[in-house]
Amino acid sequence: MSVWYYHSHMTHRLSQRMSAVPSSFLREIFTVLKDERIISFAGGLPNPSLFPTQAFKRAADAALSEAPQQALQYGATEGVPELREIIAHSYARKDGIDVHPDHILITNGSQQGLDLLGKVLVNEGDRVGVENPTYLAALQALSLYKPSVIEIPLTPEGLDTDALSAAQNAAPLTMLYTIPNFQNPSGLTYSNETRERVVAALNGSHTLLVEDDPYGEIRFIGERRTPFLAYTDEVVMLGSFSKIVAPGLRLGWMVVKDAELYAALHTAKQAADLHTSTLTQHIVYRYYRDNDTDAHVRAIAHAYKQQKDTMLAALKEHLPDDVSYTDPEGGMFIWATFPEAVRTAELFPLAIAEGVAFVPGESFYSTGGVTNTLRLNFTNSSPEQITEGVTRLARAYTRYCA
Ligand code: PMP
Repeated sequence: MSVWYYHSHMTHRLSQRMSAVPSSFLREIFTVLKDERIISFAGGLPNPSLFPTQAFKRAADAALSEAPQQALQYGATEGVPELREIIAHSYARKDGIDVHPDHILITNGSQQGLDLLGKVLVNEGDRVGVENPTYLAALQALSLYKPSVIEIPLTPEGLDTDALSAAQNAAPLTMLYTIPNFQNPSGLTYSNETRERVVAALNGSHTLLVEDDPYGEIRFIGERRTPFLAYTDEVVMLGSFSKIVAPGLRLGWMVVKDAELYAALHTAKQAADLHTSTLTQHIVYRYYRDNDTDAHVRAIAHAYKQQKDTMLAALKEHLPDDVSYTDPEGGMFIWATFPEAVRTAELFPLAIAEGVAFVPGESFYSTGGVTNTLRLNFTNSSPEQITEGVTRLARAYTRYCA
């Protein structure tokens, strides 16, 4: 795992499973980020000015007027039926995929889905395939179950499927964790051909394909790609309201077609928290029922595209030509690659001194080794802040090179 670990003076009281859990880089630098003089491209925060506050107020009022007793009572582990129906139907509407409400398990964000998958599938030492680099908090969630993490490289077209087949041939993976749309951290998207090849590489094995898709709706340009769920039933899809409504809801879902796996996840969820907040689910259901939520998501994508364009233009203008960037078709992140000798972890303090923050790429690799990349979030800064932040980053890089 990466370089940040929990340090405790009471290790004798902690379980062994805590010993290899990386803490989040963003948590480590939390105090720094609270300094208002710092422009932060570090977090993964949606733009709060796009939260549907007024519509949400009305939905909250409707929930408490129409169904106060259900909304405030204990509920079913799998979630509120009306909300599960809306989610199931959205797959038929957008991708022509047949999903039944019984396949939907409501979770506390997709983050809980990752924990539940680790809990029900991963024994210590099991091989879990991840993209390299991958989402930091997925590594954190899964590390509690002590897997052997197998890093599979990313290409501009998505996962390197030759490397996947080689890993699979060496010894079958228990699980393959993927983020096929506008990946966190790289911003990359799998082509449909890569998706087909991933499914083919796993065909006939017991490997569970996990499709984590919190950003898929937030597409700026190009055609919507086909979810793994359209190619195979041997997949678990993780969905989330965090980026299309608001992350403070802590509301997500899993699509699980395999009845036995669904039952195990259901039991694990029950053991963890009985169920997700019924009040939140009743509100979100009514928010969807009573509003043009597709229009809202289009507005988010429109705004983020402007922010992404502003950042990319500033990067190209202010940083030297030997730094390269991804140009994401959606989502919230740009990934920058510096010349090989550069250590972005050492650039970081210089950037903070100039008043700008990013996440050094090292945190997104399970075993480290790559030191010249960094992640930039463009959704939580104004265009002026984006331009100013990039000029600060360029100054820090000039100082780094001096
Ligand atoms: N997966 C990925 C790839 C993410 O980027 C995030 C959040 N940044 C999550 C899962 C967790 O999202 P949620 O708020 O739904 O728990």
